[in-house]
Amino acid sequence: MALIVQKYGGTSVGSVERIQAVAQRVYKTVKAGNSLVVVVSAMGKTTDGLVKLANEISPNPNRREMDMLLSTGEQVTIALLSMALQELGQPAISMTGAQVGIVTEAEHSRARILHIETTRLSRHINEGKVVVVAGFQGTSSVGEMEITTLGRGGSDTSAVAIAAALKANFCEIYTDVPGILTTDPRLVAEAQLMDAITCDEMLELASLGAKVLHPRAVEIARNYGVPLVVRSSWTDQPGTWVTSAKPQGRSLINLEIARPVDAVEFDTDQAKVALLRVPDKPGVAARLFGEISRQKVDVDLIIQSVHEGNSNDIAFTVTTPILKRAEAVATAIAPALRSQSNPKSEEAEVMVEHNIAKVSIAGAGMIGRPGVAAKMFATLAEAGVNIQMISTSEVKVSCVVDANQCDRAVSALRTAFEIEAGEQGSRGAGEQGSRGEVAVSFSPLPLRPSAPLPNCPPVRGVALDLNQARLAIRQLPDRPGMAAKLFGLLAQHNISVDMIIQSQRCRVIDGVPRRDIAFTVSRIDGENAKKMLTQIAAELGWGEVVLDSAIAKVSIVGAGMLGQPGVAAKMFEALAQQQINIQMIATSEIKISCVVAQEQGVKALQAIHAAFELAGSEKFVVPA
Ligand code: ASP
Ligand code: MG
Repeated sequence: MALIVQKYGGTSVGSVERIQAVAQRVYKTVKAGNSLVVVVSAMGKTTDGLVKLANEISPNPNRREMDMLLSTGEQVTIALLSMALQELGQPAISMTGAQVGIVTEAEHSRARILHIETTRLSRHINEGKVVVVAGFQGTSSVGEMEITTLGRGGSDTSAVAIAAALKANFCEIYTDVPGILTTDPRLVAEAQLMDAITCDEMLELASLGAKVLHPRAVEIARNYGVPLVVRSSWTDQPGTWVTSAKPQGRSLINLEIARPVDAVEFDTDQAKVALLRVPDKPGVAARLFGEISRQKVDVDLIIQSVHEGNSNDIAFTVTTPILKRAEAVATAIAPALRSQSNPKSEEAEVMVEHNIAKVSIAGAGMIGRPGVAAKMFATLAEAGVNIQMISTSEVKVSCVVDANQCDRAVSALRTAFEIEAGEQGSRGAGEQGSRGEVAVSFSPLPLRPSAPLPNCPPVRGVALDLNQARLAIRQLPDRPGMAAKLFGLLAQHNISVDMIIQSQRCRVIDGVPRRDIAFTVSRIDGENAKKMLTQIAAELGWGEVVLDSAIAKVSIVGAGMLGQPGVAAKMFEALAQQQINIQMIATSEIKISCVVAQEQGVKALQAIHAAFELAGSEKFVVPA
């Protein structure tokens, strides 16, 4: 007999008939010998309707009152579903978040879950009842009891958190799509259903998957090893499993806020190759990495920051043993990258650096928390470590630093993020050798990079994000503390940064070596961030702050790209064939993201999806 948590989204409970159909499914699951907790959303578009009502009264309604209002939607559904179950002869009881004891932060409209009382839940389950719980809501225990909500789409998070707290066998998310698709079917008709994806891949695809599954639900599933499946309410199709390694013994206290970072990784066995001043035009990255992949050179990080004038620097890292080969390829291809019309000798110069190390923090809790990356940079600054390059993804921030400073960097980061050098660190030969992962000491399993699923193609999914803007700050002094200052300020203003890129190019101006840093933020934050930073830049003697809102970010994600040369080349080649210029590149082990012009975003997505042969024959109809 299994304990299952099922969650039904708004459309699945959108009418009396649908609630009755859900009751039937629940009843069947119980009759098959399982115990059930059912988490539901508000009926149909109820929550949108309530938001609209509030906005008719106030353009800026009080957040506490908003929570009072929005939490009523789910309360309607739980009562009706319990009644429908009782009509079928199935004992059931409805409970609000407060009745269960879903304790959250006292942050109205975006509260994170601290812990979940299981006593009452368990008692009802043991009495043979189906417990129907209102999703999306909780209660703050601080001072007087208040109703809180978790943020739009938060019922998924309620369901997975309850599954984690009850140590349920698995959690099923029932929705109006058949599962998770390789890309957005509204933009690419050939999008295909995946039968499984790892939590890390899913998190890296946050901008694609967020509509189907709340990213915070995936964070919890990953951190607590909750088996999770996304399925259609209308069919018996198996849907998509979202899998995780099973970490052991993570505390259920401070469920959503403890340990946003759970590993510090490092690799001193790295070397950097940079091509300086290559022309900023379509096809350059494709030629370079095409040749690199033909020579079977496996590159690790790839970083290209925002162009300067009409040229870019592209840098990548490789493991030391293949550096010679990588350098040879770069040197051989360099002349072909120089602009033919005006071949200048300083174009496409190859630069190699041996003594570098890559230091990364990884964890599921970084999305939407600007303070995490800022804390990493501040920690490195305090330790006197200069950051040469930065590349970020949703679940990882990687910095290239001087190899001699690696030990210092790692130990400072371990202390700052409270990660003890456990099994992983020593087995990873961190002290004598070159490579390691310092995972949380109570987790004997490597959490990351998550093992690729068997038989899975190198690329699992392709995402397009059209809601970002790019900011670049020119000429920051190249010394410890600058990134810390910049991203600390953004964090203070609660501006979440998505992709951060600090590139290779370093120039001496007025006797001070300087570098540019570029990053992307939500488009709505673009203007504010620019205004704030322009003022700071003037005070601190930084260069110009440049905002570009007309960008798109396309990403490929897949744990199968680890150790497979040629994946990046294929992506860049697909863009080059469409004459799409790549403005920036950032990578993690399982993700490659490119920034392109906004109007080329959809074309880029389609070309990349086709290039990786992700197309399926089945067409998925997108519900309105
Ligand atoms: N009803 C809430 C919303 O629409 C929560 C949810 O459905 O997940 O955002
Ligand atoms: Mg949803």
